[in-house]
Amino acid sequence: MTHALTRTSPFGEAFIGRCIKCGQDGFSTGGALVECPADDLVSDEQALLDSLEPGQARVWAQTGQDHK
Ligand SMILES: [Zn+2]
Repeated sequence: MTHALTRTSPFGEAFIGRCIKCGQDGFSTGGALVECPADDLVSDEQALLDSLEPGQARVWAQTGQDHK
């Protein structure tokens, strides 16, 4: 899988993001198309949960279960 980018630049400016899986910084939007070296260590689902506040993660997890 590719890097999972979260925006670190202010909205309205050019996208600069950090990968929530490997922690690498300074990606443009093209980084979302590059293979992530930490992919074996962190699943996309776990990375997403780690990027959320505990309360948000719970809501997201419940929502995810509803779609199964
Ligand atoms: Zn990455």
